[in-house]
Amino acid sequence: MTKRALITGITGQDGAYLSRLLLERGYEVWGAVRRTASINNWRLVDLGIAGDVQFIEFDLLEFSNVQKVIEKTRPDEVYNLAAQSFVSASFELPIYTGHVDGMGVTLILEAIRQVSPGTRFYQASSSEMFGKAQAVPQRESTSFHPRSPYAVAKLYGHWITVNYRESYGLHTCSGILFNHESPLRGSDFVTRKITLGLARIKRGEASELRMGNLDAKRDWGFAGDYVEGMWRMVQQPEGDDYILATGEVHSVQQFIDRAAEALGIPLVWEGEGCDKIGIDRKTGNRLISIDPSLFRPAEVDISVGDASKAQSQLGWQRQMSFAQLVEEMATRDEQRLQDGSLRY
Ligand code: NDP
Ligand code: GDP
Repeated sequence: MTKRALITGITGQDGAYLSRLLLERGYEVWGAVRRTASINNWRLVDLGIAGDVQFIEFDLLEFSNVQKVIEKTRPDEVYNLAAQSFVSASFELPIYTGHVDGMGVTLILEAIRQVSPGTRFYQASSSEMFGKAQAVPQRESTSFHPRSPYAVAKLYGHWITVNYRESYGLHTCSGILFNHESPLRGSDFVTRKITLGLARIKRGEASELRMGNLDAKRDWGFAGDYVEGMWRMVQQPEGDDYILATGEVHSVQQFIDRAAEALGIPLVWEGEGCDKIGIDRKTGNRLISIDPSLFRPAEVDISVGDASKAQSQLGWQRQMSFAQLVEEMATRDEQRLQDGSLRY
């Protein structure tokens, strides 16, 4: 029998890659999308699957709507990827972020419990929950210390997912995913901001890129690899919590260096701290500068995960290397600027 999946956040980066994977595996895919003047489905268009999914209006802030969506679609699997997902914005929108990223999870779980208790549930939890990391690398057993309203809300979402599993026996999974990127990443996130910004500089469409904390270190993987892990979690006989990560760490500055290299920009650094600048070795032009307003009220200095549980229990492993990922993102952005296909 054809399986039916409901994906919230289908218009986001992970929603697009997960839709493609589920369609390839023969699923009927429903995308739960919030009402907007015009649907923002450029990522699904980019992957050539916009016509293959069915959309249903959905808002994580309205229980009657969530309940109706579950009732109408009766999915075998729900992937809750919808969120206000930008850490920086959560400092400006702490209450909204709490409602959507935290309480919103309970709305779906409660609807599943009442209407369709056989439905399996995946929650998009985040490495940001580890925040001020109590151990390096972070494992499923590492204690949490969230450092932003986003991370605090995600922690609530994580524990309510565990709680509905323990209290009601629902099949629920919490995927604690470390940063994962792709050419479909939102352009506010640091990786895509860098690849798009440097591609613009290379083409003479911009002169300078203003950055925040260059010393932050992240464990960056490819989103296409991570949606495979999500699916594998949901296929297990019992719901559980798993980390997906590469185990490799790079600083923001290293990401910039790699992207510049991929684009053939001869970048060198001068100065220290907030006075550090990246300059073009050939022309002497300033390409990168530091903007202190882009620093966060509380920072996650280093984030690196140990995915050995997912590796041993799910057989999951990332496929794309850091170097490949940066190169693919940078060259795709350059290409988009060249052929006018940039949709963000
Ligand atoms: P994106 O920001 O690309 O996508 C977020 C999605 O959520 C969009 O489809 C957006 O819809 C939707 N959304 C936001 N608010 C609402 C709402 N109130 N009701 C319904 N839908 C809403 O995120 P990613 O694809 O990168 O991430 C997917 C999930 O994984 C998120 O929950 C994120 O927090 C989490 N995560 C991501 C990581 C990463 O590195 N990418 C790491 C760890 C966790 P719209 O198009 O209308 O804006
Ligand atoms: P996050 O790990 O979910 O917060 O993902 P981001 O891509 O938004 O940020 C990753 C890291 O890059 C954080 O430590 C940021 O402080 C740092 N960073 C440095 N400069 C920037 C910038 O200009 N934009 C963003 N988004 N992050 C930046």
